[in-house]
Amino acid sequence: MPPGIGTVLSVLRSSALLVDEQDDVVKASAPAYSLGLVRGNRVAVDELADLVRQVRRDGQIRETELLLLNPESRRSTTVIARVAPLSSRLVLALVEDRTRERRVEAIRRDFVANVSHELKTPVGALNLLAEAVQQAADDPDAVTRFAGRMQTESARLTRLVQQIIELSRLQGDDPLDDPQTVDVDSIVSRAIDQSAIDAQAKDIQLVHNGQRGLEILGNGDEVALALGNLVANAVTYSPGHSRVVVSAKGGDMMVDLTITDQGIGIPASEIDRIFERFYRVDPARHRSTGGTGLGLSIVKHVAASHGGEVRVWSVEGQGSTFTLSLPRRATRPAQPTPEPTSEPSTDALRQQEATP
Ligand code: ADP
Repeated sequence: MPPGIGTVLSVLRSSALLVDEQDDVVKASAPAYSLGLVRGNRVAVDELADLVRQVRRDGQIRETELLLLNPESRRSTTVIARVAPLSSRLVLALVEDRTRERRVEAIRRDFVANVSHELKTPVGALNLLAEAVQQAADDPDAVTRFAGRMQTESARLTRLVQQIIELSRLQGDDPLDDPQTVDVDSIVSRAIDQSAIDAQAKDIQLVHNGQRGLEILGNGDEVALALGNLVANAVTYSPGHSRVVVSAKGGDMMVDLTITDQGIGIPASEIDRIFERFYRVDPARHRSTGGTGLGLSIVKHVAASHGGEVRVWSVEGQGSTFTLSLPRRATRPAQPTPEPTSEPSTDALRQQEATP
């Protein structure tokens, strides 16, 4: 073995194996063992062993992608193997784990495919409606009706595009660059205000409860977006004349924001999937509610970039509680928790008064 090669191999980030002319592995780095490339003193992956022999034969450098299956964990690893002759006797194989990159690429491809599919529905509907308007040119009532539906579809399209943009911005889950102090009360009020009109239309009471004066560390707009999505869902998936309660509670490290509704709830079998992009429990229902299936995945990414999390508890037919847990900024002692009220928050009332 050339002098110093052991040291070189040990500093490489990729797995490395050195194979002699008897196909024996004379030197391998630790990751080469953990990836399962070497067993005893032999190359354990047939495709890699073949590649080593070809390179030894003609001296050409070769590169290939391999899928390794770990029989114990049953997990697969995607690697890139680069094989080169090192001397007349020895062949060097460098193997890099590309699993994460491949997974990210697959997710991105999926996302693009899903987005295209989701955009097709409202665009197709708009196209049909435009045709219908053309054909109904001398029937003013029909024109008005179709135009109204065109507005609904274009609103859906706008919302979908907005959410796709938000999601693609958040998807990296990178920690926030510059977390700011965010006042929880005003975020809760913003979220409640956003849903006040929809809540009023269904006679749903929107209640702001829990501790006041709490602060979190984060990005106010993102937290407002996440909380707004959770409150909007609570209203959407609740029957009329029910209650939605938004409550804040400070712990040592985190602030828990809980949104509780008395709505349709989520079947236990679906609960693990609702945070996936475009996932809807009842896609048929969606045509009427106009949901995109992106709201909760936005919430999940906001939680992740803040170093927090989102949890859900739900019983089908009884209601759901979503908890968004975000890092607390400990400052002045929080004010005592007021008695739970059944009154709508003042913000919601203000909104209600403002609308006829
Ligand atoms: P959508 O735009 O469809 O509301 P989300 O990602 O926000 O998308 O939610 C995904 C799915 O989770 C919804 O389609 C709905 O089936 C379910 N869901 C979300 N929030 C609630 C809730 N508060 N009560 C019942 N089901 C809910």
